[in-house]
Amino acid sequence: MFKKILIANRGEIAVRIIRACKEMGIKTVAVYSKADEDALHKELASETVCIGEAPSSESYLNMERIISAATLTGCDAIHPGFGFLSENTQFARMVEKCGMTFIGPNPDVMEKMGNKAEAIKSMKEAGVPIVPGSYKAVSLEEGHKIADEIGYPVLIKASLGGGGKGIKRVNSTDEFEALYLEAKDEAKKFFGNDEIYVEKFIVAPKHVEVQMMCDKHGNVIHLFERNCSMQRRNQKMLEEAPCQSISQNLKNKLYDAAVKACKYVGYDSVGTIEFIIDKNENCYFIEMNTRIQVEHAVTEEITHIDIVKNMIKIAYGLPLSIKQEDVKLYGHAIECRITAEDMLNDFRPNPGKINFMHTPGGLGVRIDTSVYTGYTISPWYDSMILKLVVSGQSRLECIRRMRASLEELIIDGVKTTTEFHYLLLHHPTFILGNYDTTFVESFIKEFDENAKRLR
Ligand code: ADP
Repeated sequence: MFKKILIANRGEIAVRIIRACKEMGIKTVAVYSKADEDALHKELASETVCIGEAPSSESYLNMERIISAATLTGCDAIHPGFGFLSENTQFARMVEKCGMTFIGPNPDVMEKMGNKAEAIKSMKEAGVPIVPGSYKAVSLEEGHKIADEIGYPVLIKASLGGGGKGIKRVNSTDEFEALYLEAKDEAKKFFGNDEIYVEKFIVAPKHVEVQMMCDKHGNVIHLFERNCSMQRRNQKMLEEAPCQSISQNLKNKLYDAAVKACKYVGYDSVGTIEFIIDKNENCYFIEMNTRIQVEHAVTEEITHIDIVKNMIKIAYGLPLSIKQEDVKLYGHAIECRITAEDMLNDFRPNPGKINFMHTPGGLGVRIDTSVYTGYTISPWYDSMILKLVVSGQSRLECIRRMRASLEELIIDGVKTTTEFHYLLLHHPTFILGNYDTTFVESFIKEFDENAKRLR
């Protein structure tokens, strides 16, 4: 097994990976920026290396410095976590060139699936259902013609987009040209690549994704699905597993499609195949995330499988120790992403010092965090405070457990989304479970209108 792993990340995911390494008897190296002197991942690792100034470009995105830190400390592998360099093919190749293992898929498959337009093309070849569209990067003329053919609204997407960014909705043919050019400009600026593709806009879909686990020996298994339809501006806020609002028939179809997709491209790590589902249970592949995801914890809770440890074992070259028939479903799990954001002010980030923090506990309550009393949430990075994950025998038990946990949670010093999640957990639409990706926006609108009236 690996002797020492460098974690090229920060925050709760760095802590999560360090914990997995400790259990496996692997030493760890934490890298940190000057803004992260007090970070928890730094305290928990066996060794630490400061890699630069606060801006990510000078620290967590600086490939040379991270690789130098790994070489100098004698690491045999690098785990990229999520965000930052986790889907950067150049970084994965550099790590391998320097004689270390990149803990993720092989760079070729990562490149293939990392470009969303390319991935859609491959999935079409593999026979996986996809959203009608251009199926490849297109010029203004080509894109406009296809949009006119498939009918409006359509989405214009950046091939290298991510995190809900780089997506534009076009409602009519007159809007196409201006939005295409705007999208191209933004894609160039944010993702360093101005490739654009076009896709039909599916009205009020659910977002359901399948967690995959594949090894370097051709074994491919799925760990069921997650419902990630609670989104604000295409960003997930709450996730649950399993998804109770789709039929078992459809679930089986999603698992089959996800297994087929991974086998077709020779995927060899943990990863996620994302689908959107329309009102008539038509399903469409939208993209693959070739990394560990924020919401992996809900799947761990319903399968009792440690995804992070398995990811490390796979990267080392071990075959999967679990067969598909060994993967069992245990009850239900829900995750709330508690962030330092002001729900009364358009969810603006609200970084600052945590004067006091008390977290709930007990049976079926899991907190993944890197924040503690006295810690200052930095304005330089994302505003995640903690992931509150509850599990139980039934969905209703989870809802009750999550409500009680949110009531107990105290975070003093910054504005958080705790209350927003608490309200969400009491909304009949959430309780009934049949919500789609438009629900959060309409809930926020309803909430804002009432809040304004009361002010
Ligand atoms: P990102 O890589 O930025 O996460 P995705 O392509 O995964 O982008 O899309 C993010 C979200 O946008 C999806 O979860 C879904 O809610 C919405 N979305 C994406 N494609 C479509 C589509 N064709 N029709 C309707 N909604 C979509």
